Amino acid sequence: RTVYLNGEYLPETEARVSIFDRGFVMADGVYEVTSVLQGKLLDFAGHLARLGRSLGELQMGNPLSAEEWLTIHRKLVELNGIHEGMIYLQVTRGNPGDRDFAYPPEDTPQTVVLFTQSKPGLADNPQARAGMRVVSVEDLRWGRRDIKTVQLLYPSMAKMEAKRRGVDDAWLVEDGFVTEGTSNNTYIVKDGRIITRQLSQDILHGITRASLLRYAAEAQMQIEERPFTIAEAQAADEAFFTSASAFVMPVVEVDGVALGSGRPGPVATRLRELYLEESLKTAI
Ligand code: PMP
Repeated sequence: RTVYLNGEYLPETEARVSIFDRGFVMADGVYEVTSVLQGKLLDFAGHLARLGRSLGELQMGNPLSAEEWLTIHRKLVELNGIHEGMIYLQVTRGNPGDRDFAYPPEDTPQTVVLFTQSKPGLADNPQARAGMRVVSVEDLRWGRRDIKTVQLLYPSMAKMEAKRRGVDDAWLVEDGFVTEGTSNNTYIVKDGRIITRQLSQDILHGITRASLLRYAAEAQMQIEERPFTIAEAQAADEAFFTSASAFVMPVVEVDGVALGSGRPGPVATRLRELYLEESLKTAI
């Protein structure tokens, strides 16, 4: 596999980053994941815009132009022959030499890493036909979940808790309300209405979420942006989650309670089709 590191395209075994890198010792970095379908990038403009915002919130500059980011993404897709899969992008505050809580001088070069992962069957995913089962786990993450940092230990712990309990993923709960999934935005459907938590610092502003809500509104579907509880999810007709790598994923069970028919519902199924169809139109 060929990866990108600080201006160079290298075999993955030759890409090396300093042990002093702040991404490594302090999780001081941000990332993006863009999906590739039919060899094209989905929602690329959205992912780049959020990258800029995440960097800005952490007083980091954007090391490359939109054109340069696009060129690197396209080149890695081509070099690695990615038809279906994803591209991971990470920018850290680089290597200041000595470990220090204070940020290093602004001219410290950032570390820029991109790599691809091939994932055949991403669009025609058997899990989307079966639906996923989730359990609730307390949301113990930090308070700036709107910044897409590489600090992913708690979501990872919650994911392992879900696995221990024999299901697919965890829905995080704070003050009695679902915030989001370990790596996705969450939704319920009741009487045809799509309900999802409103944007704030409590959740990541999902790029898939933004596109899907736009497509759903254009299709005259009813959307309510507000928090919901696990009890409300269990009493819902359907549930689902969204992320760049899962697109729209039906959820069929919440904390052991089957939703509706216990099978992916019509709204989630339609929204998955709608997202795939519409996002491919703007894929680049
Ligand atoms: N919330 C969290 C916590 C996530 O990690 C992700 C995926 N990165 C999402 C939501 C979904 O965001 P997106 O649709 O941009 O992938």
